[in-house]
Amino acid sequence: MKLAEYKNQIYSCLRCGFCFDHEVGSQAKICPSHASYGMESYGARGKLAIARALVDEAMEFDEDVAERIYTCTECGACEEQCFKYLDLLDIYRAMKGELVLRDLVPSPLADAARAALEEGNPYGQAAGKRLDWAPGRERVGKQAETVLFVGCTPSYLRRGIARGAYQLLEAGDVEFGLLTDEVCCGHPSYVAGDLEGARAAVQKNVEAIERAGARRVVFACPGCLATFRDEAPELLGRPLAFETLHVAELVEQRLGAGLRLRKQSRMVTYHDPCNLGRGLGIYDAPRRVVDAVPGARRLEMRRTRARSFCCGNGGFVRLGYEPMAVENETARLEEAVATGADLLLSACPACQIAFLDAKRRSKAAIEVLDIVEWLAQAV
Ligand code: SF4
Ligand code: SF4
Repeated sequence: MKLAEYKNQIYSCLRCGFCFDHEVGSQAKICPSHASYGMESYGARGKLAIARALVDEAMEFDEDVAERIYTCTECGACEEQCFKYLDLLDIYRAMKGELVLRDLVPSPLADAARAALEEGNPYGQAAGKRLDWAPGRERVGKQAETVLFVGCTPSYLRRGIARGAYQLLEAGDVEFGLLTDEVCCGHPSYVAGDLEGARAAVQKNVEAIERAGARRVVFACPGCLATFRDEAPELLGRPLAFETLHVAELVEQRLGAGLRLRKQSRMVTYHDPCNLGRGLGIYDAPRRVVDAVPGARRLEMRRTRARSFCCGNGGFVRLGYEPMAVENETARLEEAVATGADLLLSACPACQIAFLDAKRRSKAAIEVLDIVEWLAQAV
């Protein structure tokens, strides 16, 4: 939708400030971009004031507007706390659409989105290396009821997650295949605001999944899962003919069918990735599978579930605004350390990269793993 179509919502903002200031009942800031930049215009209320001036034609889209919009991690904390239940993320998406039309997407993000479309991944890696992590080729191109959609980051940068997902599906007796022609899910284009690019990527992958005859697709990356579950039906104008699940949801199902997890004596804290938690409402499945590991004790961080704080790296902000990403990932790692846990789990490869980076800088002792990697150690 065009920004002007949100005029009523934009005018409904009460300017109350619940969307960017302190979490209700605490001193914790909820908006990563506002926490880092400390200016009204980086929080939701400020962005709505800008949106109002834009629809009223009192100002024009320019680089300053672009910076306010693209420093947003799309964490959804503002929308969660908005007193008027405004569709804030949709309003930011509409602003991004206008910025795309004016060629105002910051170049690091525009380059990543272009590489994702042209080369199949945002990292400029060779397509032929996408499946190098796989333990064998027998599942590649196999017709099966279930497809494991691996995603670019597990395929190229966090291959332990790809291998872990594969092991968990095997341990759970799931008959599955890998696509021969998986490409980037389209999330970088979607985040940039290029819905045509996102549609093209989604279409390519959905056709590949349909050719494989799958009725169910399992994801190790919540960005890919959100793209398929939330965005693909709207982008394609039709419902998907297959079910979509995160690996943690599948493991939970397989526990009921006899999958056994071995003892791991660990104190574990779980970070809710924004796409999985606030985005898709998946809070319980990862916690239930952690609790199903004998010997594991789960400790919650101060900000958790719908009130979780972003790892600071959503929306590909690290590409153009690294100091902000560093500041927020450090704050979140400190929160994990404060629980006394010896293991920090995320369920998103981007969160894990952020926390590993923060751990390297701070030399914190806490181990950082993706939930998929850790569960794979327990089968
Ligand atoms: S989505 Fe997150 S980063 Fe973006 S404005 Fe809302 S709270 Fe801030
Ligand atoms: S919480 Fe909602 S209504 Fe209140 S200032 Fe923020 S966007 Fe406006």
